[in-house]
Amino acid sequence: MESIWQKTQKLPSFGSFSSNKSKKANQKYDVLIVGGGLAGILCAYKMQQAGIDYLLVEADEICGGMTMNTTAKITSQHRLIYGDILERYGVERARMYYDANEHALDDYARLCESIECDFERKDSYVYSVDHPKKLLRELEALEKMGRPAAFVNDVSLPIETVGAVKFELQAQFHPLKFVERLVQNLNIAEHTKVKEFGVHTAVTNHGTIFADNIIIATHFPIINKHGMYFLKMYQNRSYVIALQATNHQEREALQINGMYVDENDKGMSFRNYQDMLLLGGGAHRTGKSGGKWQELENFAAEHYPKAEVAYRWAAQDCITLDGIPYIGAYAKNTTGLYVATGFNKWGMTSAMVAAEILTNKILKKHTPYEEVFDPSRSMMHPQLVCNALEATCNLLTPSTKRCPHMGCALKWNKEENSWDCACHGSRFTEAGKLINNPACDDKDM
Ligand SMILES: Cc1cc2nc3c(=O)[nH]c(=O)nc-3n(C[C@H](O)[C@H](O)[C@H](O)COP(=O)(O)OP(=O)(O)OC[C@H]3O[C@@H](n4cnc5c(N)ncnc54)[C@H](O)[C@@H]3O)c2cc1C
Repeated sequence: MESIWQKTQKLPSFGSFSSNKSKKANQKYDVLIVGGGLAGILCAYKMQQAGIDYLLVEADEICGGMTMNTTAKITSQHRLIYGDILERYGVERARMYYDANEHALDDYARLCESIECDFERKDSYVYSVDHPKKLLRELEALEKMGRPAAFVNDVSLPIETVGAVKFELQAQFHPLKFVERLVQNLNIAEHTKVKEFGVHTAVTNHGTIFADNIIIATHFPIINKHGMYFLKMYQNRSYVIALQATNHQEREALQINGMYVDENDKGMSFRNYQDMLLLGGGAHRTGKSGGKWQELENFAAEHYPKAEVAYRWAAQDCITLDGIPYIGAYAKNTTGLYVATGFNKWGMTSAMVAAEILTNKILKKHTPYEEVFDPSRSMMHPQLVCNALEATCNLLTPSTKRCPHMGCALKWNKEENSWDCACHGSRFTEAGKLINNPACDDKDM
């Protein structure tokens, strides 16, 4: 099932590492970026702008992972995160998180002045159907931080809410139209999969690459030896449908003039793309059950009975312990190894933040907000216990199909015909072909 972005924009192709014109036999790049999703591509773009000698390698084709299945809202409003950051880390760090994401939004706005990618400024809203107190707590946090937000009673959605927190002048775009222009002069090798890492080396299916610095931008990090990412992250899957209407009045009803998301992570999200309404939701931990497309279709049947489903797709993202991405040194004891992951379904701005921080790190420059994203920050969080329990249960579950990543039991996902791992979110086709990492190889079925 292809997303609206895949269907409406083709991306350029790049040769593999063995055919790459800049291939350097036994010479070192300054930076090797592993993974050609938005995070890797923005890192490559910023490195190129800074004059750094880099190569990006992508196992398959660029943006073939989660980036082609996003809903592409560009915002510093990441559900109700500011109240949580403020409570856990204090006002200074909450401000850093806000400023980093606003800076990313500005970067997109500047780039999109010369890239035709349906970039539009839109207000962003986080609504609640039953928790006004949570909204007020978020507003209080933003007030303490000295950053702007407003409470609104009504939102243009066909459901009852108790109000919403509004961030003005955020944005939405077509992610693949954006990438298509951005990658034109970047140094990229496709169909080049990293199979093994050594000190400053990466062994690929097209030979060994040497680099002083390596950035892991593979969505879920694929090196287990360091960083404990298998304990401090899991993946959450969600579903999208694009609704279209033929009659004028129904088309008008689909226009919601903003970007909306429920404060509850089991709730729904809304944005328009042209005359369509993109509905997101049905979320669940990968490998578990949830509302899936059925929940969205039920909602559409009730509230937009004349609209038709023009596209449907699904994706998953990495969820961190505290809702903040992991961007920076891969682990305390690694040198020249960096990571950009854990975007918690807010990867548009987070990928730009990652590109800024990691480019500065390579240039040995400090980024004012880098410490809030430090991957080695404390792991003390109740979610850690949940992740550990989930892994233990799945390791002990008897099953003939086990994930090659860490041996957890795989569960059959009948809606998408895949074998899914509830521990870390790896997915395989019925025949065992790898769909999503952190597993790195196909599975014998
Ligand atoms: C349903 C849904 C809706 C979302 N909507 C929004 C939104 O509105 N706004 C927002 O900000 N965020 C949103 N997100 C989040 C956002 O889409 C993601 O965070 C982002 O796309 C992740 O980008 P990435 O580059 O980290 O990963 P990916 O796009 O998955 O890229 C990783 C790449 O690494 C490659 N790779 C993996 N292993 C190797 C290897 N060994 N060697 C070489 N290459 C390798 C893969 O092939 C892949 O191309 C949404 C997420 C979901 C699930």
